[in-house]
Amino acid sequence: MAKADIEILWTELEPGCVVTEPGSSKAYRTGDWRSFRPVLNKDRCIQCGLCWIFCPDMAYAQDGEGYYESNPEYCKGCGVCAKECPTNAIGMVEEEEPEL
Ligand code: SF4
Ligand code: SF4
Repeated sequence: MAKADIEILWTELEPGCVVTEPGSSKAYRTGDWRSFRPVLNKDRCIQCGLCWIFCPDMAYAQDGEGYYESNPEYCKGCGVCAKECPTNAIGMVEEEEPEL
């Protein structure tokens, strides 16, 4: 059996799948690779909050008027909110290609 060039003790390994610091997910802006984004039609919104409940990324927050708006820094564009909205107040639109 070949000997490893570098020997690392298990106690020196970074822990995996472990949240070592509360609130650390705020640092990961998961919206970077989104290809679609939700757009709210306020005329159809009844402010039920189902989009906020179903969003797997907790990207929604209420604005001052009580409407739910998704935060593009965390929205991954999965479309769950649009699917679950009972009044079809959310439409999914394609993101534009960034100019290089
Ligand atoms: S689920 Fe639809 S109707 Fe309900 S708050 Fe969200 S956008 Fe408005
Ligand atoms: S598209 Fe997905 S990630 Fe974005 S706000 Fe809706 S449910 Fe959340």
